[in-house]
Amino acid sequence: MTRVYNFSAGPAALPVEVLEQLRDEMLDWRGQGMSVMEMSHRGKAFVGIAERAEADLRELLAVPSNYKVLFLQGGATAQFAAVPMNLSKPGAVADYVNTGAWSKKAIGEAKRYLKVNVAADAGGNYSTVPPRDGWKLTPGAAYVHYTPNETIGGVEFHSVPDVGDVPLVADMSSTILSRPVDVQRFGVIYAGAQKNIGPAGLVVVIVRDDLLDRARPDTPTVFDWKAMGADGSMLNTPATYSWYVAGAVFQWIKRQGGLAGMEKLNRAKSEKLYATIENSGGFYRNPVAPDCRSWMNVPFTLPGADLDQPFLDGAKAAGLVTLAGHRSVGGMRASLYNAMPMAGVDALVEYMAEFQRLKG
Ligand SMILES: *Cc1c(COP(=O)(O)O)cnc(C)c1O
Repeated sequence: MTRVYNFSAGPAALPVEVLEQLRDEMLDWRGQGMSVMEMSHRGKAFVGIAERAEADLRELLAVPSNYKVLFLQGGATAQFAAVPMNLSKPGAVADYVNTGAWSKKAIGEAKRYLKVNVAADAGGNYSTVPPRDGWKLTPGAAYVHYTPNETIGGVEFHSVPDVGDVPLVADMSSTILSRPVDVQRFGVIYAGAQKNIGPAGLVVVIVRDDLLDRARPDTPTVFDWKAMGADGSMLNTPATYSWYVAGAVFQWIKRQGGLAGMEKLNRAKSEKLYATIENSGGFYRNPVAPDCRSWMNVPFTLPGADLDQPFLDGAKAAGLVTLAGHRSVGGMRASLYNAMPMAGVDALVEYMAEFQRLKG
């Protein structure tokens, strides 16, 4: 068996220790004589797994007690619709900040339910974060939505914008758990699992209690945060196995020193890769403004598109895979989520230097 360094943007690599635990517990979870996949979600064993996962996530993120933590289905994309359905009446206005591909998708979906005011648009080729003082917010808006990390563009907010008393809603799919964050600054945080949490399909929603009374009456119950919260996310059968995997990842993060430990590692990994790009004399380029470069997703280009395939072929031979950029952008993209060890980044920068020596 050979494990590769997988730089996929999502579904993404999981920690080897977690995969080993899943393997060891597959046929017989702790004397139950069955796998977690086969258990009743109402049974004592699974309820314990679910509660432990929620408690660990609350501890990692220091989620205050006046927030609900939900484990739902449909990925982050389901929440693009669930956010307006849960937070606004038809005809209401919500402010959206557009920093790239995922913001645009969130905006497109929200427009089906309410009036979207694009309060700020990074524009151009979406390589910056629009400064907060230029945002045109709507007085009385239902909420303000933004994307703290644009997974495709590699653009990241390095501080939380202040929007006063209006609920701030964040799609944290590709940056949650990468470092500490002050949950109290947000009305709602949601994150698809397949980047830093676990298997695709699961989505974690963290919502402040006072926002649970605003859902439209026609909101489907599986997307209704209040209904789901009242039932411990078990109004219907939850994604039990994914929830269990997420719990194993949370425990792994705790063993790495929690989010402070992840922050230290993630800062060091991204600094190493950006330094390699910056010190390549223009051979490798990253288009993003230095003060909003993502720690999690690092896009870069080579001197010509004709070098892309040779770069990818050589990388694959060196055990470095899924480095092709998003189909809409081209070039390369290395995703450095929590599960990517420093050894993977070391192998990548070594390969990049070698490739430049051969082709530069
Ligand atoms: C991956 C991603 C999504 C989409 O998640 P799905 O699970 O496919 O719905 C949404 N937003 C961001 C920022 C992402 O990185």
